[in-house]
Amino acid sequence: MTMSLGKLDGGVVEAISSATGLSKEVMDDVWEQVKKNQALLKACGGHDFSIVHEQRGLLRTKWRCSKCGGVVDLHSKHWYELGLAHAVNRA
Ligand SMILES: [Zn+2]
Repeated sequence: MTMSLGKLDGGVVEAISSATGLSKEVMDDVWEQVKKNQALLKACGGHDFSIVHEQRGLLRTKWRCSKCGGVVDLHSKHWYELGLAHAVNRA
């Protein structure tokens, strides 16, 4: 599966902006940060999510890769680390 990270659709921007009260400029800034983070994660040769990036309760905590600097949530960290464990079992 490939995740497309092009430009946000204008209709989506309008909908999220009116639902959240965030300005389009703030949303563009957040979107740029998301794209930069995805580029870091994609280019990494092997993550190590041992660094707590943002501590906000387990479900909202984020971890940073010590190698690429990319940031993920609990869900992504969990599945990445489980995939590593399963890959060892297949070897
Ligand atoms: Zn990494």
